[in-house]
Amino acid sequence: MKAVRAAEGGVQVVDLEEPPGTGELLQIRSASICSSDLMYISYGCRFILGHELAGVDEAGDAYVVEALYGCMDCDQCRSGRYNRCPTHGERGLGFSIDGGMAEQFRAPAGRLVPLPAGLDVRDASLVEPAAVSWHALRLAGTGVQTRVAVVGAGALGLLAAAGAQGQGAEDVAIEARHPHQIEAAARLGATIGTDGRYDVVVEAAGSPASLARAIDLVAPGGTIVVVGVFMEKIEIDWPSLFLREARLIPSLGYCAHAGGREMEDAAAMLAANPEISRTLISHRFPLKDAEEAFQVASDRRSGAIRVVLEP
Ligand SMILES: [Zn+2]
Ligand SMILES: [Zn+2]
Repeated sequence: MKAVRAAEGGVQVVDLEEPPGTGELLQIRSASICSSDLMYISYGCRFILGHELAGVDEAGDAYVVEALYGCMDCDQCRSGRYNRCPTHGERGLGFSIDGGMAEQFRAPAGRLVPLPAGLDVRDASLVEPAAVSWHALRLAGTGVQTRVAVVGAGALGLLAAAGAQGQGAEDVAIEARHPHQIEAAARLGATIGTDGRYDVVVEAAGSPASLARAIDLVAPGGTIVVVGVFMEKIEIDWPSLFLREARLIPSLGYCAHAGGREMEDAAAMLAANPEISRTLISHRFPLKDAEEAFQVASDRRSGAIRVVLEP
């Protein structure tokens, strides 16, 4: 059984005796490459990669894998906020345990989310990053009356622009740098470029400059929500936040809420608007060509947004 293992400077396609993971067996139909995977490679992780996963079980039913595995026993997990489980770093797919970028993968039954009608399992690996952006928008209180700006137009930024519209916002602007990102943002119905200040600002680039930009854009009383990953101490222009009494909140993964799971919300959004997957999935490769796929995903000039591996 083929699987994609992190290796020095890239990945290696390896043959495994047994599918990675524990639990229900899935035939993986789509596994996408995330910038986190590239980060894990650079950290020196050597696990099987893959946390954006969709597949079918033995009965032929299609699922996405909710890739945040909490302990399901602590207070945070029991309240549905398994993204805040203090142990989830020990269960990071591709980071601290083997992920599912493989022909087959086993996932705990409780972490499988059934696909809604209208969402093709070949597109469904996108549900995972879509849930990350969906969670951020919910944390920030996005709604019909909110003006939303997104800084950064990689996959998470574009999915935030789509998600903000999915949560009812009519005025959604995005700051995009590269021509293929601008084109994608326009296809998703976002306004290209910002004008004035915004109630909700999504920082989706993960750089100090983009966080500073997000602070520039927030309206008095507004909220900046950060999906970009900062793993070191950073400087923040506190007076600008203070004088506008703006909130700055980090966003981590996704979780459940009284009405269900954010993975279900994100899947419903993708099912309702297939243009999102068509726009976001820029490349598809067979799993055996994962080395080339990772080169494309890590090359800024390739025009890649999401690169999907298929059987
Ligand atoms: Zn990811
Ligand atoms: Zn827990």
